[in-house]
Formats: sequence, structure tokens, C-alpha cells
Amino acid sequence: MEILDGKKISNQIKDEIAAEVSKMKTRREKVPHLAAVLVGDDGASLTYVGSKVRACERIGFESTLVKLPASTTEEELLKEIEALNSNTDIDGFIVQLPLPSHIDEQKVLLAVDPDKDVDGFHPANFGKMALEMESFIPATPYGIMELLDRYNVETSGKHTVVIGRSHIVGRPISILMSRKGNPGNSTVTLTHSRTQNLEAFTKNADIIISALGVPNFLKAGMVKDGVVIIDVGITRVADDTTKKGYRIVGDVDFEEVSKKASYITPVPGGVGPMTIAMLLKNTLLARTRQKVRINK
Ligand code: NAD
Repeated sequence: MEILDGKKISNQIKDEIAAEVSKMKTRREKVPHLAAVLVGDDGASLTYVGSKVRACERIGFESTLVKLPASTTEEELLKEIEALNSNTDIDGFIVQLPLPSHIDEQKVLLAVDPDKDVDGFHPANFGKMALEMESFIPATPYGIMELLDRYNVETSGKHTVVIGRSHIVGRPISILMSRKGNPGNSTVTLTHSRTQNLEAFTKNADIIISALGVPNFLKAGMVKDGVVIIDVGITRVADDTTKKGYRIVGDVDFEEVSKKASYITPVPGGVGPMTIAMLLKNTLLARTRQKVRINK
């Protein structure tokens, strides 16, 4: 069994990006600039946005945090997005989800300029991804693909079972794994809360990508020997023995399942750190594409 070490690989990717930024600085070029919009003060969202901004600073990107109160109206948020769309200094930006319930998330995502949509959530990017055209790929599925690639995990002709059909993980990774290419070329089954007899699918899977958010959901009895396991789940479980009062638990019972797996991602230290690295990669891509557009 080999651990797919997301922490190690994400650090490699960040080093590669930092080297690229350093070359840009030597050439006196503009460095990539990522903005993050945060509405309200949800604890988990604050943590996520904070780590994205800090990651930018560490690799030499510019970053801007647009922090808006929970009372911000949809109209005010859309104005803010319009300002980011037209600000030529900003190469890419993200709107941290979830948004307060009085704001229509779809309207907001549609307002983001697809060329600056480094989260890859705009339908233009999602559609291009499905059609195997150049686009921004959402960071978490992109991170999974990169991890499989860097560990040379064979995916061609394999049966991949995805658990969960969210727009940010399950649905896009099911598309990516079925696309022509490497990683990819696998036969994909997308399962979800209405799937009957899930075990019948997981027991037949060569690769399982679990993104449902139920701690220790996937047990050893549900998988076959030699399976490749990608655990996307991140759930905070109360734990008085830790300083924070909680610990992070994945969807997979690591203790049991790792004994049968050929490759497995740990939680934490697997898909999580890859997500931030790929957001940075998308921002670098946005900068490069912006440069090409301006020079044209
Ligand atoms: P979600 O919470 O929006 O949806 C969960 C999905 O799981 C749904 O599609 C649902 O149909 C499916 N599901 C629920 N119960 C099921 C069951 N019993 N059997 C089969 N399918 C079932 O999904 P999400 O936003 O993709 O998040 C999933 C998990 O991944 C969460 O723990 C989240 O915190 C985590 N996550 C991690 C990262 C990362 O960077 N590692 C990024 C995004 C999400």
C-alpha cells in the first residue's frame, strides 16, 4: 500500500509555481494577483479563505481579501464582482461559498468573468471542461487528477466509482475521469444518496473517489483488494483531547480500508492541501492567459 501524499505533492507544486513567479519578477513582469470575496463571518469559511490568502503570499503572488458583512445585499455583491471583473490588476478571483441564504448563489457564479473564474464554477468553464476544451478546472477535482498523475496511478480502462454528485467535487471528477487522456479514460459510475445497493458498485471498483462528507462511511467490506482510494471528505468531529476541540475525519475508515488498498489518500494531508495548490496553479494560468490576451 502506498500513501498518496497530498501534503508533499502540494508543496512540490507550490515550489514550482514560486520558481515561476520568481522568474516573472526577474523579468519585471506583473505577478499573479488573486482576490477572494468573503461574505459574512462563518468560521470554516474564514479559515479556508485565510489559508488561500496566506498561500498566495508565501509563493509571491499578490492577494486581496474582500471581506463583506453578512448583511450585504445580492445587488451589492454583484457590484463588487463587476468591479473585480473590470479591475485589470486582478487576474483571478473566488467567491467563498456558502453565501448567506438571501443571496442567489447561481446568480453570483454567473456574474464572474469566466476568464477570471479560477474556481472553475462558471458554466462556461464547466461546459468547456466537459467538452475537453481549455478551461479552469475546479481546484479539488484538479488536485485529485494531479495526485493520480504524479503517482503514475493507472486509470485507463479502470472502473472508477465516485460517491457524491456535488457541483464542486463529485460531478466534475466523474467527467474528468471519463475524459480521453491520462489520468482519465476510465469507466465511471457516479453514485449518490439515491443509489441503491452502493456496495455492489464499490466492491467492483478499481478506483473509489469518495466525496459525501460522512465520517468513516467506507468500510473494508465494501471494497476489493488492490483498490485505489481517494478520500475527499472533511468532517469536523468533536474531540476534547485536541487543542481545537475537534479533529478532521474523512469518508473512509482508513484503519480498515488501507489494509486492502494499493494507494490511498490520508485525511488530513491528502486531497485538502492539493485543493489550495491547484487554486494557485489556476491563478498562474489566469495570469498567463491574461498576458496573451492583452498582447494580442
Ligand atoms: P455535498 O455535501 O454538497 O454533497 C454530498 C453528496 O454526497 C451528495 O451528492 C449526496 O447525494 C451524496 N451522498 C450523501 N449521502 C450518501 C450516501 N449515503 N450514499 C451515497 N451518496 C451519498 O458534497 P461536497 O461539497 O462535494 O462535499 C463532500 C465532502 O467533501 C465534505 O466532507 C466536504 O467537506 C469535503 N470537501 C473537501 C474538499 C477538499 O479540499 N478536500 C473540497 C470540497 C469538499
